[in-house]
Amino acid sequence: MHFSEPVYRNPYWPTWPLIQITQGCTHNSCKFCTMYRDAPFRMQPMEWLEEDLRELQASDPHAKTIQLLSANPLALSYDRLMPRLELIRKYLPELEHMYASTRVDDIRNKTVEQLRKLKEIGVNEISLGVESGDDWTLQRINKGYTSQDILEQCHKLEEAGIAYWMTFLNGVAGREHSHEHAVNSAKIFNQCKPMLVGTGGLTLFPGTPLLEEAQRGEFTPLDERELMQELHTFLSLLDRDCELNTHHTSSLYLSGPFLSRKQQILDALQEAIDHADIDAMTLRRQQKRGL
Ligand code: SF4
Repeated sequence: MHFSEPVYRNPYWPTWPLIQITQGCTHNSCKFCTMYRDAPFRMQPMEWLEEDLRELQASDPHAKTIQLLSANPLALSYDRLMPRLELIRKYLPELEHMYASTRVDDIRNKTVEQLRKLKEIGVNEISLGVESGDDWTLQRINKGYTSQDILEQCHKLEEAGIAYWMTFLNGVAGREHSHEHAVNSAKIFNQCKPMLVGTGGLTLFPGTPLLEEAQRGEFTPLDERELMQELHTFLSLLDRDCELNTHHTSSLYLSGPFLSRKQQILDALQEAIDHADIDAMTLRRQQKRGL
């Protein structure tokens, strides 16, 4: 298989098989991320794709699911993307789901009709690394789109019938703007229809501009208790009947159906805010080496 490093697969989707149709990330400049810093965006050569598909066909000819790599494969225009998806279907005709993580603005260059065709061929569930619905925060972390873009592109996905996940990056606005990040993100997420909301706490990895800003005193990261307080504010305002996934450093079990368990989740979070071992949580975050 032709995989270029780093290979990041969404851990919540079926683990196998994976197929790389692009390399790197088109944006590559979010301030908290260095994952694809040394991997410029490129299309995977068609001959590599076809070789990989022959391998997959030999090992798993009845595959029902596949994850499309890399960071944002849907950045390709419809005219470039569709032939690649058709090739995948030619080799794996029983596929039912082609999962992909991608950026909000990758949807912009596709019409609703084109999105419907992507859904028909199997792209029926995607994950959007939204991170925030607050415009100050989106600009601060150089996300490259606005809250209005989030609304417009998510509504197109809804029209086309493509299910989508939205992520909330807990802590990314720092202490100064934490409240607005939580409140405005909930406002935007509430105007969308994600099948799942995912949350992860910000970890400042070496080499990220945000860590450098923190070292210069220009960004104040939240401590573990403040992260949970921000998440509590966000979830208390979130009003979507969706699934919740979290990979917080606390051992709290918050994942599962959200709205029907909302009060239970908020109570558990409040209990952790009041009594969790913050030192242990801080240590766990310091030991994290990747998302
Ligand atoms: S967070 Fe996602 S969109 Fe931003 S640079 Fe990293 S991979 Fe690219």
